[in-house]
Amino acid sequence: MSKQVTKIGVLTSGGDAPGMNAAIRAVVRTGIYYGLEVYGIVRGYQGMIEDNIFHMDSKSVANIIQKGGTILKTARSKEFFTPEGRQKAYENLQKHGINGLVVIGGDGSFRGAQKFSNEFDIPCIGLPGTIDKDIAGTDFTIGFDTAVNTAVEAIDKIRDTADAHDRLFIVEVMGRDAGYIAMHSGLATGAENVLIPEQKTNIDEIVMTLTEKEKRKKLVNLIVVAEGDEYGGATEIGKILKDRMPNADIRVCILGHIQRGGAPSCIDRNLASQMGYYAVESLLQGRNNVMVGIVNNEMNYIKLDDAVKQKQTVSDEMLKIIKILAS
Ligand code: ADP
Repeated sequence: MSKQVTKIGVLTSGGDAPGMNAAIRAVVRTGIYYGLEVYGIVRGYQGMIEDNIFHMDSKSVANIIQKGGTILKTARSKEFFTPEGRQKAYENLQKHGINGLVVIGGDGSFRGAQKFSNEFDIPCIGLPGTIDKDIAGTDFTIGFDTAVNTAVEAIDKIRDTADAHDRLFIVEVMGRDAGYIAMHSGLATGAENVLIPEQKTNIDEIVMTLTEKEKRKKLVNLIVVAEGDEYGGATEIGKILKDRMPNADIRVCILGHIQRGGAPSCIDRNLASQMGYYAVESLLQGRNNVMVGIVNNEMNYIKLDDAVKQKQTVSDEMLKIIKILAS
């Protein structure tokens, strides 16, 4: 039987995502509602190691629900990969009497949380905070909706200029290992094709389709590429296509970090608020090493290990629809 949780720590780790602040707010205020003491840990696991930990009250999270980024900052910590680093982190938590942890982050952060809670008697609950949506056991992750809407807004603008010049634009969106931003923004902007890490890229087929469209005078085309596609992103794809189609007017645009920033969407704020609430409830119920997800609008628990290993499956049908609708 695990000990009753009385003091909890909350941190954001790894890549930042819009909506993390709403999740922090929910953890802090739910914790206080249930009579817990809540501590903020600054700069993720590195802050745990460096004892960058402070007491939070209801006011500490005032006026942040609408803000992008994370008030707790985030970091990648090499030291946390080592047993010595995790030992230091544990000692610092003990010093403050923290006996439960909420980790808001992506798959890497969950691997860290899992190791930590296996080694020490501190239960860890994960909240999926990543724009990449590459985590199983939840329909959406905190930040994905905002990031994809930012991409859509930017691609719409590119489409206007592509249309004015009859150009083919190759737009790179974020996603080193996952193609969800590319797929969702590609479908929403009427892209010709999306190229994602989960699938092989067939350059011959792309050239054939574009050439056929050129004959039909369909000259405005968009290809959305995830940064981690087989060829390594839009710049490489652009070079290859320019080589294969010397007469086409081809431009490359890399959207980059704008996809991480900005005010979280309503969906992300609501998701983060619910997940933060459930994270505290799960700690009080004695759960450990699980991620809180939302599936079909209902709360869902999945082991951290499974959340990281299983991934979400890429919908072949969605890719097919994108191609059909762009024809
Ligand atoms: P994300 O959570 O966005 O996937 P990272 O993969 O960078 O981000 O992971 C965030 C941090 O989690 C790392 O910097 C490290 O401190 C910790 N971490 C990741 N994997 C492990 C691991 N296998 N063991 C211990 N700590 C880990």
